[in-house]
Amino acid sequence: MSLIEVRDLRKVYHVDTERIVALNRINLKIEKGEICCVLGTSGSGKSTLLNIMAGLEKPSLGSVFIDGVDICQLSEKKLAAFRQKNIGFVFQSYNLMSTQTAIENVAMPLMFRGMSKKKRNHYAIEMLKAVKLDGRMGHKPSQMSGGQQQRVGIARAFVARPKIVYADEPTGNLDSHTTIEVMEIMIDMARRYKETLIIVTHDQEIASYADRIIYLLDGNIKSDKPNESIMKTKREKDSETAKQVKDQKKNEEGKSNEEK
Ligand code: ADP
Ligand code: MG
Repeated sequence: MSLIEVRDLRKVYHVDTERIVALNRINLKIEKGEICCVLGTSGSGKSTLLNIMAGLEKPSLGSVFIDGVDICQLSEKKLAAFRQKNIGFVFQSYNLMSTQTAIENVAMPLMFRGMSKKKRNHYAIEMLKAVKLDGRMGHKPSQMSGGQQQRVGIARAFVARPKIVYADEPTGNLDSHTTIEVMEIMIDMARRYKETLIIVTHDQEIASYADRIIYLLDGNIKSDKPNESIMKTKREKDSETAKQVKDQKKNEEGKSNEEK
């Protein structure tokens, strides 16, 4: 069995007399260690799918298995415990505790593991170093930039080594430069710890970081493919940049030789 198996998932919302089919009929298998992106325009059902896969919402029909457990059948209490143990979240609006420092925020998920404070802090510090926030350990969220806050959010999501990390529009509140920084750190963390990472986004650029792109349209999976083409263009771009840098260096060397 795959780490995540979604079977015949359907979600219908009822608002007054209106029926909104947010998810029509979704089938999906995700393996351990995969970095997937759920891509689609606004209203296509991305957040609904992610929330149901994370056990935050119940489907109208169908099931979600995580490591063989049908999470849709768990009681609220069991589900909360399951989430704490197995799932990490990265939110668009960071959702950090405003009165707590970066270390305290990152250490939070470890409290549910019955770990001593000393050990929790040790791991939190290690994670904050991994997201390059060495100099911000004692800062509170209001004393940090958006990008820094999201790096704290990423450290918190990975610290307890959950089975899955879910990220819903993780860079939605960040500028384009910070988006690249934050995406690179999040992907690096997922690869480093061999985590399964599911990113939801409407942004093709963000999707290009994933190994696999699941394209949602009107509550249906329109396509589900490995990200080969985009990886290839990225590699080509990188090698082209490398060539340009090399050529430029050669030119400069040539010039300085002429000057001599
Ligand atoms: P996305 O994340 O891709 O923008 P959503 O999953 O949030 O899309 O929403 C999918 C559809 O379901 C939309 O038409 C949205 O309006 C509707 N929807 C989402 N949540 C609710 C809700 N709690 N009540 C009613 N309709 C909802
Ligand atoms: Mg959404």
